[in-house]
Amino acid sequence: MNELAKIEFSGGCSDTPILKERGQREVFCGLTSIIWLHRKMQDAFFLVVGSRTCAHLLQSAAGVMIFAEPRFGTAILEEKDLAGMADAHDELDREVKKLLARRSDIKQLFLVGSCPSEVIKLDLSRAAERLTKLYTPKVRVLNYTGSGIETTFTQGEDACLASMVPVLSATDEKQLLLVGALPDVVEDQFINILTELGIEKIKTLPATQKDKIPRVGKNTRFALVQPFLGETAEALEGAGLRRISAPFPFGEEGTTGWLRAIANDFNVDENDFNEVISAPRARAKKAVEAAAKKLTGKSVFFFPDSQLEIPLARFLVNECGMTAIEVGAPYVHKSIVGPDLALLPKGPTISEGQDVDLQLERCRKAKPDITVCGLGLANPLEGEGLSTKWAIELVFTPVHGYEQAGDLAALFSRPIKRREVLRL
Ligand code: SF4
Repeated sequence: MNELAKIEFSGGCSDTPILKERGQREVFCGLTSIIWLHRKMQDAFFLVVGSRTCAHLLQSAAGVMIFAEPRFGTAILEEKDLAGMADAHDELDREVKKLLARRSDIKQLFLVGSCPSEVIKLDLSRAAERLTKLYTPKVRVLNYTGSGIETTFTQGEDACLASMVPVLSATDEKQLLLVGALPDVVEDQFINILTELGIEKIKTLPATQKDKIPRVGKNTRFALVQPFLGETAEALEGAGLRRISAPFPFGEEGTTGWLRAIANDFNVDENDFNEVISAPRARAKKAVEAAAKKLTGKSVFFFPDSQLEIPLARFLVNECGMTAIEVGAPYVHKSIVGPDLALLPKGPTISEGQDVDLQLERCRKAKPDITVCGLGLANPLEGEGLSTKWAIELVFTPVHGYEQAGDLAALFSRPIKRREVLRL
């Protein structure tokens, strides 16, 4: 048997000093992630305990007319709740009772905290415990926070998945757990490749239905599919699972590195590995080459937002021939993004956190060809003549894996093309 080549995660930007900033930030809150989580978990309902602002944010983030009954909603805290003049727990119990009586399709209910519920210190874990006792075994009730106080929008998914870890049932079976909500088509592609590599038991967190929620244990290895799942990773490691450290599966290089790290852990033969990945890998290379023509030689500046910044900078530099000027991330967890940092050639400023005015000054001075940022910054920067890419689009669009590598490059080349057309 030919042993698979080991991967060394050092060099590149591994030792680049990180510019840490703590000032005003321009980010969305964690409620936003309900939009993709409710699509993935088909029998879950997300009940935000929040204000009218939270309800409006959810509605506008959904961005579409909802024809079926939605699987998210807001239990609005009125002034009397906020002033402590009413028992918010009693009101919440009444809302949940009404909701579950009307919606027999709900099997998992998430009580999602918000800024107002945190400010009045409403204990949603107590509420979740009480409601679980009332509605078990039909409905499982969990809670997490999506509050905008000190969070970014992708932390909503992290908090949601972390809330599920303590209630996962146990198994000693040897298996692979893929952690992170992926569009079904992408998840299927990964499972197909991993199955061809000979990995027999593959589970996902989150699962699409309550009865498919994985059992886990000390023989479960897990691989993150998103770099923003630090709290979930910690909870799984705390439960005795082992994480497979790898670059994230964006582009041909990232996907190959991610698959290789998993294959190493499951003792896949080098020849078998190369045989399985060679065709999709070649397709990805070709698609990126075609889509990245407009990107080669161009520069990119990342504002901190989605937490995908470091793996995406690695993709744009190594596979699309771009130069990264600054790669800003809300948090830099080296234990998680270390392999991507190691593959990112030295050069860019790596920054963590934000002081938005200072960062805007650096960006204006650098005049990047493309700026990746949140919606709040994109319009003013476009107005100043810079091309921008909304970071949130990268979370809503299927961009992982070999088959989506060309689409990922195209997402960045489109704004550049548009700016060139406008200049003609
Ligand atoms: S959770 Fe906080 S930041 Fe998010 S919509 Fe509600 S009030 Fe606004």
